[in-house]
Amino acid sequence: MQSSQLKYIKEKADILQVVKSLIPLTAKGYAQCPFHTEKSGSLKVDGKKQIFKCFGCGASGDVIDFVMRYKNITYKEAFNWIADFCRIGDFKDQAKDFVPEPVKELPVSYIKSELMIACREKSNINNFSTWLRKHFGDRKAAMALATYNVGTSKHWPGAVVFWQVDTESNVRSGKIMLYDPETGKRVKEPYNHINWVHKVLDLVNFNLKQCFFGEHLLNGNKKRVCIVESEKTAIVASIVYPDQVWLASGSLVNLTAERCEVLKGREIILFPDVGAFPAWEEKAEYLNQVMPDTHFAVDKTLSGYTQKGYDLCDYIIDDLNHFK
Ligand SMILES: [Zn+2]
Repeated sequence: MQSSQLKYIKEKADILQVVKSLIPLTAKGYAQCPFHTEKSGSLKVDGKKQIFKCFGCGASGDVIDFVMRYKNITYKEAFNWIADFCRIGDFKDQAKDFVPEPVKELPVSYIKSELMIACREKSNINNFSTWLRKHFGDRKAAMALATYNVGTSKHWPGAVVFWQVDTESNVRSGKIMLYDPETGKRVKEPYNHINWVHKVLDLVNFNLKQCFFGEHLLNGNKKRVCIVESEKTAIVASIVYPDQVWLASGSLVNLTAERCEVLKGREIILFPDVGAFPAWEEKAEYLNQVMPDTHFAVDKTLSGYTQKGYDLCDYIIDDLNHFK
């Protein structure tokens, strides 16, 4: 193989197109890395530099490296495969130049904000709100519920809706959950009471793209951002520590670099539940690498605790009870 052929294929074979033909790729070039086990999307394909890099396992290289590794084939085989993919053939017919198509992703679906507003008006008649008022009083609870657009759903008697509203004020969807009004714990028996507004409404071809719960609160400030897992914890912490913006990610899996783009340039503190520290620390390290102008750190307040699943909300409530 001549170096001119190599140069030609590297110019013609768009890494975004090649990778996208093999694995799902987001519009911003992120993918679940095929070279190590993960769910978070640590692989970034850079169309400008024509390289890929995984911030989870360190795999990196150009388009040929990717194909070699992905298909477990030799350099020459990968070269031929890519030439074929690009319809470059034997380089004689340069008229059939490969023209990359723009990477397409389904548009994000939204829910009409009127629905959220109607549902928000009944924010004080669900089990979660009852529990919140019991601990923080009517006024503080009502303010927090309004700040986070919390609503009530008829899906189960007493169910709450945690709406996800992005920085553009678009309603991505609402998570419907049922809490015990006494303990404030989620009802998981006889089944886990969790659903989504778009599913309950049976919206056809709805393309849910989750954002952070509380993301709309990022607008108009440069405050420090604290990220917890559960919506309940974000709301409770916002009452006790109002100087920061409190967001909920839903789970660690949701904490991807793509979703974190709205946090660009900020200082971020992550609050893992007890038992999840190593995974969150690894994620913070990864996010610091892919987002060099944003700083992620893990709060250590609960690192000495051993009770699995104990979180910042439990800590705050225990503290309140202690001083009662
Ligand atoms: Zn990897």
